[in-house]
Amino acid sequence: MASVELSHIRKTYGALEVIHGVSLSITEGEFIALVGPSGCGKSTLLRMIAGLEDISDGEVLIGGNVVNSLTPRERNIAMVFQSYALYPHMTVAENMGFNLKLSGVAKPEIKKLVGEAARMLALEDLLDRKPSQLSGGQRQRVAMGRAIVRNPAVFLFDEPLSNLDAKLRVQMRTEIKTLHQKVGTTSVYVTHDQIEAMTLADRIVVLNAGRVEQVGTPLELYRSPANLFVAGFIGSPA
Ligand code: ADP
Ligand code: MG
Repeated sequence: MASVELSHIRKTYGALEVIHGVSLSITEGEFIALVGPSGCGKSTLLRMIAGLEDISDGEVLIGGNVVNSLTPRERNIAMVFQSYALYPHMTVAENMGFNLKLSGVAKPEIKKLVGEAARMLALEDLLDRKPSQLSGGQRQRVAMGRAIVRNPAVFLFDEPLSNLDAKLRVQMRTEIKTLHQKVGTTSVYVTHDQIEAMTLADRIVVLNAGRVEQVGTPLELYRSPANLFVAGFIGSPA
């Protein structure tokens, strides 16, 4: 696992600035929830940490090293999206091992790593199935498995549960937290669901229109919201 630091990050699309100088220090092993209304810049920020989006200004550090010019693969991060983007023609095992194969990992090693991840996610009996033969929750688990096999230093989640029904969402929430602890990784978890953020996170970052409004533990934000926006978002009395 690795620390993640954002230093005065800005993002502009043409003449429009959507992230206005965000700074944030995330400790090794921490579970951070990044919350805020739709369009406030959560995905953009996450994609800049991942290296999927250029940074207009500022620095991203992972494990203390500036990674601005590194590719996503070189950053040793894994990202889980709400659309699982599994390959429909591949089995669960092939989907989970695909990135390892691309990296040139030998077949027996791929089998071992996929097996370990499958055990952790209770997917052992489903390894030969195709994605179309899985439930939504199982597909999401495969997507997480695909991320875990690479033993990432940092896990990035972008609203991974928003396509699931309410009951499954609660169950998967617990699984994600367990996974974070078992794998021993640093996690940044984007959600617009306050309850999800409150139950999962060590600290919550509240983003509004490209700026950080407040950073704190769920209890700190609930008890002492910095302003009405945070109070309204967290649902606490201001
Ligand atoms: P969130 O994930 O919080 O809903 P996003 O990070 O997706 O927000 O978007 C933040 C802002 O950046 C929005 O105003 C969005 O319209 C804008 N934006 C995102 N991607 C692009 C793009 N490729 N070109 C122009 N504007 C974009
Ligand atoms: Mg988004």
